[in-house]
Amino acid sequence: MRVPRYAYASQFLDLPALSAHLCDVLAAGEYILSEHVQRFEDRFAAYLGARCAVGVNSGTDALILALTALGIGRGDEVITVANTFHATVLAVLSVGATPVLVDCEPGSWLMDLDATAAACGPRTRAILAVHLFGRTLDMDRLVALADRHGVALVEDCAQAVGATWRGRKVGTFGAAGCFSFHPSKNLAAAGDAGAVVTSDLTLDRELRILRNLGQDGQNNHVHLGMNSKLDAVQAVVLDAKLNALDEWNAARRTIADLYRQALAPTGISVAPAPSPPGDHVYHLLQVTTLHRDQVLNRLRADGVDAVVRYPVPVHRQPAFAARANGRGEFPHTEFQAVHTLCLPMRPDLTDSDVGFVCTTMTSAVAASTSGIPL
Ligand SMILES: *Cc1c(COP(=O)(O)O)cnc(C)c1O
Repeated sequence: MRVPRYAYASQFLDLPALSAHLCDVLAAGEYILSEHVQRFEDRFAAYLGARCAVGVNSGTDALILALTALGIGRGDEVITVANTFHATVLAVLSVGATPVLVDCEPGSWLMDLDATAAACGPRTRAILAVHLFGRTLDMDRLVALADRHGVALVEDCAQAVGATWRGRKVGTFGAAGCFSFHPSKNLAAAGDAGAVVTSDLTLDRELRILRNLGQDGQNNHVHLGMNSKLDAVQAVVLDAKLNALDEWNAARRTIADLYRQALAPTGISVAPAPSPPGDHVYHLLQVTTLHRDQVLNRLRADGVDAVVRYPVPVHRQPAFAARANGRGEFPHTEFQAVHTLCLPMRPDLTDSDVGFVCTTMTSAVAASTSGIPL
């Protein structure tokens, strides 16, 4: 038996209808910023409860464009979390600003908000809050913190599309919410894609100009923009899948509970469920284990497609080590990088898939602690 991490074919509710639609789009040549992109943007904004959504090339571009539209650049500091995917930090550096990293909290592995508050200084212009693994940060505290310091709140929702705080969707709390539709994410395009969401009409207008080569109408180049438009073909794929997103996220929560129940007697620690008003859409399910690399090798050899997110934290990456400023050290980030792994998580996992993963995990952990060579 094998349990892969992704099962793309299962994500198409009506593949023949989608194929026919895509054929029409291809034949009509409606590739760039057509009605298809507009339709997805409108439906995605409505789904989240935001006024506007701007479709872009990727989640990384969404972050770069949001920071640029907010006027963040050289000399500015942006606070974010050390255990995030490197694209978060790359975006800050791409606009010329300085990333200021803070540690995560043990257990939830989310940005430590006490450390975030302590990191706010005179040059801070934004807090880039990452709902890592699909789990929502405490938005009451973050909104209050950003207000108190007069800085922008930008949400990196790449892993948390559809997650809520007090019933309100993430991405709608700050000045801008940035989403990725990379094929690995909970709402997946058939390639790279992303979106920036805002309820600020001025920012929305700025973002539309910036993603379209800085043009305000054809041949009127008012900014040094980017070429970062969501493809119409991707918009059609995303529009079809959006209908199922809540159901898929609910299935991920159920599967996380199944994992917890099955692993509880073994003492293997699964990331705890959030308590209300928080939420988790389980883009990734973290488990903590002492001899992580041994366990990972054993899982993979036995057909379980487990993975580490992320084995080398951003401040230890060659491209970032000299460029990302930490205020303090990151012991929890270091621990998480060494001792956690992600078990397969997708909405279509069956009870028997979960059972197989848990049995394999249990014996892999037992073998590692008893010193049986792998
Ligand atoms: C995936 C991801 C991104 C980048 O998204 P891309 O679409 O791959 O560019 C940014 N931040 C986080 C936390 C991510 O997981």
